[in-house]
Amino acid sequence: MHYILVILLALALSASAFAKNCEVAIESDDAMKFSTAELRVDAGCREVKLTLRHVGRQATNVMGHNWVLAETKVLRSIAIAGMNEPDNGYLPKDDARVLAHTRVIGGGESDTVTFATDKLVAGGDYSFFCSYPGHWAVMKGKFVFGEPAVKKSE
Ligand code: ZN
Repeated sequence: MHYILVILLALALSASAFAKNCEVAIESDDAMKFSTAELRVDAGCREVKLTLRHVGRQATNVMGHNWVLAETKVLRSIAIAGMNEPDNGYLPKDDARVLAHTRVIGGGESDTVTFATDKLVAGGDYSFFCSYPGHWAVMKGKFVFGEPAVKKSE
């Protein structure tokens, strides 16, 4: 029954070749910038683990950053509503449009958030941004919840 072994081997190989990308990391800095304009996770991820690092030196009250996930169409209105909520991480309270977020961090700090993807639709139009007042206009990018990217050779 060699063919069973062959099938099992093929399954094992394809599983490793298409290992899900469900963990992503991004950096922020004193220049009010994120390190990437696009984050990509596989649609098969039930959970996503996102780590935000602040590689600058400025304190939270000067150059604080967070990472917030929302549908692109509501990014602006969440950011504006959050400006007056410093005690809630510059996010509107109990707002279901906020799909995931880290806390606001300062230089040298990091924060990790793990969130379920059950509210996300594969191929949907999502963005991430920093909701610290004034930052969202430049600190934002695409969050792609879709097919895995072409595997890069390493
Ligand atoms: Zn920021």
